[in-house]
Amino acid sequence: MLCPGVSEEYGGVGADFRYNMVIAEEVSRLGLTGIGFSLHNDVTTPYLTNVANEAQKQKFLPRCVSGYCIIAIAMTEPGTGSDLQGIKTSAVDKGDHYLLNGSKTFITCGQQADIVLVVCRTNQDPAAGAKAFSILIVEDGMPGFERGRNLDKLGQKAQDTSELFFNDVKVPKENLLGEEGMGFIYLMRELPQERLSIAVSAMASCKSVIEQTVNYVKERKAFGKRIAEF
Ligand SMILES: Cc1cc2nc3c(=O)[nH]c(=O)nc-3n(C[C@H](O)[C@H](O)[C@H](O)COP(=O)(O)OP(=O)(O)OC[C@H]3O[C@@H](n4cnc5c(N)ncnc54)[C@H](O)[C@@H]3O)c2cc1C
Repeated sequence: MLCPGVSEEYGGVGADFRYNMVIAEEVSRLGLTGIGFSLHNDVTTPYLTNVANEAQKQKFLPRCVSGYCIIAIAMTEPGTGSDLQGIKTSAVDKGDHYLLNGSKTFITCGQQADIVLVVCRTNQDPAAGAKAFSILIVEDGMPGFERGRNLDKLGQKAQDTSELFFNDVKVPKENLLGEEGMGFIYLMRELPQERLSIAVSAMASCKSVIEQTVNYVKERKAFGKRIAEF
């Protein structure tokens, strides 16, 4: 069930995206809101399969498939949502590492993530535009990486959605995902699949609700008739 898109050499089954969508549909159809397969399978792990270098794939992918490594992606900040180019979290080049500072919010799996793909500004020049951003792999236990509150939401209670804080976190250069300055391009490439996955899950949930309702009104009797007959 976890990461079907990961190839066999990293412990997966190398299935295509339709397999992910079968899982997403069945999970939604049954109303299993506590299962976070969708973020793990359809959103976060693909950043590793599509962008990570060989060493990063070897290190993380087998554990993503087995479920020992949960990945979160941290784009949103207290002052930045839809307009991602407003991201302020900064990573300053210090030779063999980046010094990461900033805060994120609304991060799914923020409490339980073993690694967080942090979208940050590696070029502080406002003229750099979309090329100012990179993605760093922050690992659990790195000094200065702290988790804030598990946010209280209207629904999706089983999903942890959190604040994250980065105070002078030394992120080794080998934890840069892909190339420096390409972060925004990677997001633009991967976000459509996230949106498709959300749409497929939403459609499956809607179809399931209608199916359950139709079945119910065909069985339920009131005032001497089945409700459907009214
Ligand atoms: C349950 C949950 C889980 C999440 N998980 C993650 C996660 O794992 N990682 C992550 O990085 N983020 C996550 N987010 C954050 C999510 O990506 C943001 O909420 C989203 O990007 C919108 O940003 P915002 O909430 O700041 O709203 P804003 O960008 O402030 O938008 C506020 C309102 O204005 C509207 N609006 C914005 N721009 C325009 C425009 N140009 N024209 C007209 N209307 C506009 C929006 O549609 C919205 O209704 C999560 C959010 C939730 C609720």
